[in-house]
Amino acid sequence: MLNLVLFGPPGAGKGTQSAKLIEKYHLVHLSTGDIFRANIKGGTELGVLAKSFIDQGQLVPDEVTIGMLASEVNKHADPKGFIFDGFPRTSAQAAALDALLETKNTSITLMLALEVEEEELRKRLLLRGADSGRADDQDPAIIQKRIDVYNAETMPVKTYYSEQNKYKGIEGIGEIETIFNALCTEIEKA
Ligand code: AMP
Repeated sequence: MLNLVLFGPPGAGKGTQSAKLIEKYHLVHLSTGDIFRANIKGGTELGVLAKSFIDQGQLVPDEVTIGMLASEVNKHADPKGFIFDGFPRTSAQAAALDALLETKNTSITLMLALEVEEEELRKRLLLRGADSGRADDQDPAIIQKRIDVYNAETMPVKTYYSEQNKYKGIEGIGEIETIFNALCTEIEKA
């Protein structure tokens, strides 16, 4: 199986690149942000809980996020592989993902990290907010909170995968196609 973690701060281009990777490698795409938004739209109990954190730019608690992700993974009987988009965002989530994949006799192949500097992220997120209507992309204070949470809580995940020699950083500024080709080159080397 080819199991990828697509990593990077909010606004780095994870959604755009995931869509292209899924098409090329026929992977199951699991975006925790998308699953939370679907639950918010559907008015589920999980959605109501998630919204209270998302609207503040905070992470949804690990036990909720890990449980949800595990049940999504378990829905797929014989996948070619997974692309995890926006997960894991904490070291506890990374450890839980390893344990879950081990029960399926598989593991993470590679973490691909889109690297984009903060000023560019702020610009991109405000533009996306104007387009998509995502509330958490419209308020500069919430955007800053998400970037801060990323630096404090999510950056350790980079160390987690670096220690396993699975971390690959990719320049996330430039043409979508150029970035995509760089990602594919790393996948084909793995
Ligand atoms: P995203 O679409 O990946 O930017 O996620 C939007 C929001 O959903 C984040 O700002 C978090 O509040 C929440 N979220 C998404 N994925 C996770 C995760 N793995 N752990 C905790 N919260 C998450």
